[in-house]
Order: sequence, then C-alpha cells, then structure tokens
Amino acid sequence: MMLNKDYSLARHNTFGMDVHASAWAEFASEEALRALLLSPDFVPWRERFLVIGSGSNLLFCGDYDGLVLHSAIRGIRVVEETADDVLACAGSGVIWDDFVAWAVGQGYYGAENLSAIPGEVGASAVQNIGAYGAEVCQLIEYVSALDLDGEPHVFTNVECRYGYRDSIFKNEWKGRYVITSVTYRLHKQGTLNLSYGNLRERLPEGGATLSGVREAVCAVRAAKLPDPAVMGNAGSFFKNPVIARWQYDHLRDVWPSMPSYPVDDEHVKVPAGWLIEQCGWKGRALGRAAVHEHQALVLVNLGGATGDEVVSLARHIVADVRQKFGIEISPEVNVI
Ligand SMILES: Cc1cc2nc3c(=O)[nH]c(=O)nc-3n(C[C@H](O)[C@H](O)[C@H](O)COP(=O)(O)OP(=O)(O)OC[C@H]3O[C@@H](n4cnc5c(N)ncnc54)[C@H](O)[C@@H]3O)c2cc1C
Repeated sequence: MMLNKDYSLARHNTFGMDVHASAWAEFASEEALRALLLSPDFVPWRERFLVIGSGSNLLFCGDYDGLVLHSAIRGIRVVEETADDVLACAGSGVIWDDFVAWAVGQGYYGAENLSAIPGEVGASAVQNIGAYGAEVCQLIEYVSALDLDGEPHVFTNVECRYGYRDSIFKNEWKGRYVITSVTYRLHKQGTLNLSYGNLRERLPEGGATLSGVREAVCAVRAAKLPDPAVMGNAGSFFKNPVIARWQYDHLRDVWPSMPSYPVDDEHVKVPAGWLIEQCGWKGRALGRAAVHEHQALVLVNLGGATGDEVVSLARHIVADVRQKFGIEISPEVNVI
C-alpha cells in the first residue's frame, strides 16, 4: 500500500485547518488494512498514528507528526433478516448519511432522526452520534475491527460501553483498533420518534412518514447549522453537561429560565449553548475564531484561524461558564 508523505489534511477536516500529516494511507478492504498493519512500513508509525473519517469532529492544532489512516471500505449489505428486523453491515468508509438514505429508501426504521450528520460509519460507532432524540448506539448490533497486529475482533454493543457521545473507543481502547465495519439493527416497522418540537412542527399532524422525517431533519439542520464548506466548524464544540438535580434546583433559584432535560432520577442535562449564551459569547470572536451567531454551541473558523486560536476561545468560554454557573463544560470535539 502507498504511504503518501507530507500529506495535506486541509480537505480532511471540516474546521478547514491547513495542516499536514507526516504520512497518509487509505485502505479499501480489511485485507489491505491487515497487509499494511503487518508490513515493515507500519513499524515506525505504530506508536503515532490516527484513524480519521471525514474529520468532522477533529480540531488539528498543528501538523500531525504521524501516520493518518483513512478507511475507504464501502458497501452496505443485509447480513440477516427476520420478520421484523434486518441487520445491515456498512463499511467503515461509507458516508454516514448515505447509510441513512439507504435505510430510509429501503423502508427500514431507526436511523432517520440521525439524517445529515456529517462523517462516516466508522466514526459513528466511536462517537455514538446522536440527534433529535436518537443515538446510534440504539441501532448498533456489533462493531468489527482489526487490532494493530491485524487480528480481527467483533465487539458487541455492550462491549462498546456507549454513553452520551462516548464509547470505549474514545477511552480505554483509544488507538487500539481500526474499525472496518459496523452492523446496525433496523426495523421493518417502527414508531417515528417525533419527540423534538421543531421536527413535529414541520410534519403533518398524524401523517408523518419515514421519508418525511428524514426530509424534516435535513431541513431543520440545514436551516440551523453552519455549512462547514462555507464556514469551518465541527458541529457542537461542547457536550451538554450532566449535573446533579440538587445543583440544578439551586441554580434555577437564581436562573429561573435555565432549561434542562431529565437524565435519571438524580441527574439532568443542561444545554451548553444556553450557558454559553448567558455568558455573552454568542456571536463573539476572539481573533479568527468565533462563536456562531445563531448557535452558541458551535465554534467557527472565520477564515485562517489556527487550532490554537479555537482552543483559546474554547478555554475562555469554559472559564466563564465555570465562574458564572459552577458548571464544567467539556469538548465533544477531539483536539489533536
Ligand atoms: C456541521 C456539523 C454538524 C454535526 N452535528 C452532529 C450531530 O448532530 N450529532 C453528533 O453526534 N455529531 C455531530 N457532528 C459531529 C460529527 O459529525 C460526528 O462526530 C461524526 O461521527 C464524525 O465523523 P467523522 O467520520 O468525520 O470522524 P472524525 O472526526 O474523522 O473522527 C472522529 C473520531 O472517530 C475516530 N475514528 C474515525 N474513523 C475510525 C475508524 N475507522 N476506526 C477507529 N476510529 C475511527 C477518530 O480517530 C476520532 O477519534 C457534527 C459535525 C458537523 C461539522
């Protein structure tokens, strides 16, 4: 397999950072990946490599001194079918939204609320992507991967230890596996999840369809989120913090309009965008990095910003939220 040296990552990260990797390689099959991992060419990079998808959740703070690997394993196939469900296996290099379009086109339920999320199938299983009341871990049956010795592994959903935008691949197993495919359980019949008001508003009362939900999600997202092709960004920069219910009750005495969503009996989730907006950051810039004028959760590259400028902006925001509310917000974006 060809290793490309001093490779530009400008087209491979949605923040639009003009950085280079020492080397780049793309694999189109599990066999090609295994051959690379076992070849002498990989030895110098074993301790410094990074697998990326579309780079839509990455912030590069400079050139990457290592090998960047990218999956070009494509293809979606039904591997099992019952009266109610199908198991659909997608290559890790499939564009996530192409998978959703395929599922909806086949009339399979489950992925429609996750329409138009940027990125690829491999990362969906790392990030546990979520939107409009759905998370991909509700669909994932198992994740196939190779370890650095080229050995295949198949992990069950439980083994992936999914949490809010979190999985074992971001923690204990970081850098240990390269995901080659993900198998999702989709349903032949389903109940549409219209729990989000701005989704419901766009759909006919009582007459929503599977494809209608997909169209509504795409329309809401297009109206709400900045297009990375126009303004570099990685979607929500911060996770919504989960805090103790007692802490929320105290805070609400001071901030009666503070929104929250229940997590369990003892915890609630507070929208980070609201906290950032209250700190006066919405629409404000620091150098060439800014908080989006309509979406306080999204940090944007106004043009030519460095990763360090974005990190500096993020640090100011974290400090202000901490000082004002005593709440710690943390990045969803992977800072490299
Ligand atoms: C405009 C915009 C809107 C967004 N909206 C949402 C949203 O609504 N919900 C949401 O959850 N996210 C959202 N995101 C974030 C992003 O789309 C997701 O995190 C997505 O899963 C990232 O996919 P990617 O292929 O770009 O992964 P990358 O950003 O390239 O990588 C993400 C992580 O996955 C790892 N990884 C990637 N591929 C593999 C592989 N094959 N094997 C092992 N590890 C791998 C990387 O090492 C990295 O840790 C948004 C981003 C943007 C730009």
